[in-house]
Amino acid sequence: MKKLDLMFTHAWLLTMQGTGVGFINDGAVGILGNRIEAVGETGELMEKYTAERIIDASGKVVMPGLIDAHIHSGDALIRGVSQDINNWMQHGIWPYSQVLRKDTDAVLKGSLMNIVEAVKAGTTTFCDFDSPMTEIIQNHVKAGTRVRAAEMINEMPAVKNTKVGELYVFDPEEGRKRLQRNIDLIKEWNGKENGRITCMFGPQGADMCSEEMLKEIRSLAEEYDTSIHMHVAQGDREINQMIQRYGKRTIPYLDEIGYLDERLIAVHLTEADEEETEYLASKGAGMVLCSGSIGIIDGIVPPAAAFLRKSTRLALGSDQAPGNNCNNMFNEMKLTAILNKCRAKDPTVFPAGKVIRMATAEAAKTIGLGDEIGTLEEGKKADLIMIDMSQPALSPVILSPVRNIVPNLVYSARGNEVEMSVIDGRIVMENFKVQTVDEKKVVKEAQEAASKMENEVSELFSGMEDTPLMRMMKNGEL
Ligand SMILES: [Zn+2]
Repeated sequence: MKKLDLMFTHAWLLTMQGTGVGFINDGAVGILGNRIEAVGETGELMEKYTAERIIDASGKVVMPGLIDAHIHSGDALIRGVSQDINNWMQHGIWPYSQVLRKDTDAVLKGSLMNIVEAVKAGTTTFCDFDSPMTEIIQNHVKAGTRVRAAEMINEMPAVKNTKVGELYVFDPEEGRKRLQRNIDLIKEWNGKENGRITCMFGPQGADMCSEEMLKEIRSLAEEYDTSIHMHVAQGDREINQMIQRYGKRTIPYLDEIGYLDERLIAVHLTEADEEETEYLASKGAGMVLCSGSIGIIDGIVPPAAAFLRKSTRLALGSDQAPGNNCNNMFNEMKLTAILNKCRAKDPTVFPAGKVIRMATAEAAKTIGLGDEIGTLEEGKKADLIMIDMSQPALSPVILSPVRNIVPNLVYSARGNEVEMSVIDGRIVMENFKVQTVDEKKVVKEAQEAASKMENEVSELFSGMEDTPLMRMMKNGEL
């Protein structure tokens, strides 16, 4: 009998193999090192394998860890300070982010809290898109999470005072520094921590980088053979900039400069029309849909249904804490299903069984890790979660004639039902508690850093009495 390191037995298994959810009743998963050695029925595996540790998963679901394909973990300290308004960036985020971003230590404390929040809700892989990523990545090392990281590259001046509608004035020197940081990130970190860390390039948006910079990034992505993770058509503010600068909308512009292919992971597509979206999908690019974030920031449901007509490379992302406001993939699955049904006025679209794949199997393909993660399959990396189905929001479990497990995970789970999390073969959360960092200490330190930031931000808001958030404060609405 072969001895494994870890084995889960008697689980309701969702393997995500094939095109459905790959359900196995009384299933088992065996792990050796950082890889999945065997998946199947418990009886079958018990005949062939024993393990250092066997976990009885009766009454629990075991499934692939969730993938958050777009998160800015460094923004966590400004959670909840910028919603229910127009011009979210100028009237909400900028004053806060200018203060926050001067203090890397505060950014790091927020980021770690964000990672803990997500792990507790079942996320095992993060596409973290932030700055300075060479430092933020240390949080993922510490937490034991899988990360596909990109430095956010833009040529926006450090002091942001562009008024709504004005064309951004680029600061090429700032841009060079950021690009260099992305190159350093790749050189220093790609493939590290047993392959748990991989890196991409991260232009913030076609409106925030010059054409010269975008072209350089594109050829660097070829040179380093990696993906380009980028906001695309993220709101009318971007389209307005593109029309003013080039007389073109974002997607036709990106097509012209050779961006539309498999390397591109296009985030949002908020303002893309259906034709543009189908075209982008047909060229092989992936899409990340951030339903909660775009719903709150823009009141828009991006054209994901159009994307799916041409491609399955669609993943979900939680985006940033100041405009979502949570980083919880169960929340994203639920919002994605409901908002898209509403957009289509059709309850049959975005069914739970498809949406759960957008946070697992399809997400892995979208971010370029399809061979490594996303399904429970022999030979893949051991990233999985165990969910306690006896929690009130997930009970009762009904197996026939209609099985309610997947609909309840998508429409009823809150994330706090995730009991255990294994990443790269290592137990990162057990008995609902993160094992790699001290959760309470992480939250306390993030709170202290945020409190320190408050006074300085108040000064920046002093000239902004007549902005929506300040009016809400004055009217006692916040
Ligand atoms: Zn984003």
